[in-house]
Amino acid sequence: MKPDNESAAHPAHLPKLPRGSRGEDFDVAWVAARREAAEKAAGAPLPFLGREPVPDAAAKGNVENLVGWAQVPVGLAGPLLVHGTAGTQSCYVPMATTEGALVASTSRGMGLLAAGGGATARVTRSELSQHPMLVYGSAMDALEAAKVAEASLERFQGLVAGITRHGALSRLETQVLGRRLLLRLLFTTGDAIGINMAAHGAELCSKDLAERSGAVERFVHGQDVEKRANARAMVEGRGRSVIAEAVIPRSVLADKARTSPEALVRVLRTYAVGYAQLGTQNWTVQAANTIAAVFLACGQDIAYVTECSTGLLDFDVTPEGDLHASVTLPTMLVGTVGGGSGQGTAAECLRILGCEGAGRADSFAEIIAATVLAGDLSLMAAFASHEFVAAHEKLGRNRPAGRGAPPSASQ
Ligand code: NAP
Repeated sequence: MKPDNESAAHPAHLPKLPRGSRGEDFDVAWVAARREAAEKAAGAPLPFLGREPVPDAAAKGNVENLVGWAQVPVGLAGPLLVHGTAGTQSCYVPMATTEGALVASTSRGMGLLAAGGGATARVTRSELSQHPMLVYGSAMDALEAAKVAEASLERFQGLVAGITRHGALSRLETQVLGRRLLLRLLFTTGDAIGINMAAHGAELCSKDLAERSGAVERFVHGQDVEKRANARAMVEGRGRSVIAEAVIPRSVLADKARTSPEALVRVLRTYAVGYAQLGTQNWTVQAANTIAAVFLACGQDIAYVTECSTGLLDFDVTPEGDLHASVTLPTMLVGTVGGGSGQGTAAECLRILGCEGAGRADSFAEIIAATVLAGDLSLMAAFASHEFVAAHEKLGRNRPAGRGAPPSASQ
């Protein structure tokens, strides 16, 4: 069969992606048909996704000792229907991954969300924190220094204004730990993750405070749990905090996923027993999978996955007997400006999402949260209906050539 690209794309409701039979779906024509659908959604050609080489000079500032470019396959999940800060949007979500079944599963979850009217998502807070630590001669000296710090907000804001136009110091907090003073500085960072501007701001503010308060020693990254699983990622959050929710009708779960709201609640409860016993701070099911794939496609700092996938998945049965599903991700460190977001394929993937450049970081964070919800919902439904292993056997196995499937799988 030949791909049909003629179905009209309404901007608010993108059409289903063209798909060939399993035997033909990787044929040039089908891949090109999907790229054409992505180009329609992006409103522009996508040459780098079509494997035109990105100029080497474009890597300056993102890598040293350049030798080439890693190639990771990019698939589109969707369409995702999301009601966000900027209104209702239908989009295809680019995911760079080598985990077979991930894109298909996320797409299935997006179908479930859309059948219930779409996901609603909101950024609830936007603050990037930095935590310098200053050491004093005694705990009493540290307490005095805390008073100096708390009276210095305007002064510190002036220092930060001198180094960035898009970032700002919004507030500060102090905590004394023995003779150490923890200075918690909270920045808004525009549409960038903002780690460079915040680190620079933290250096200036902590240096200024150390000089004026007689600190014995100063550590600009004093309480640093960046890029590690940590309690702050769940409790306080860092960067953008974001929530996504949806109601999925009982009939949709039965028809499309062969499960029920009650079965999903029971699976989640069983997971919670394991989470509590083993002490994880990540109460999602596969946020790390979803976030890593979108981050890689969209030029984000992939090392933040540890913090960003810390969160909470929640299922409930509504009074009408439908499923209420939500995901809370308190630490979403993303940028539509800066970092790797301007690179060839990354910029194109952000463009497919309608999230390229200034003014789009909140929408990007909300799309990611809705995508995480879709991925977690689909995976939990596969567990509830006992279809998980079969789906991976069908879509996600890459046995080395010459080593066929084991006897039981080939029957
Ligand atoms: P960045 O690459 O430093 O870019 C931010 C720049 O974009 C700023 O100079 C800002 O200008 C400008 N900008 C223009 N329009 C903007 C807008 N609408 N919103 C925000 N900024 C805008 O980005 P970053 O997010 O600060 O840093 C991300 C990079 O830092 C990643 O590559 C990451 O790997 C790396 N990183 C750094 C550290 C660290 O400690 N330094 C730690 C981990 C990762 P103005 O500032 O002049 O306004």
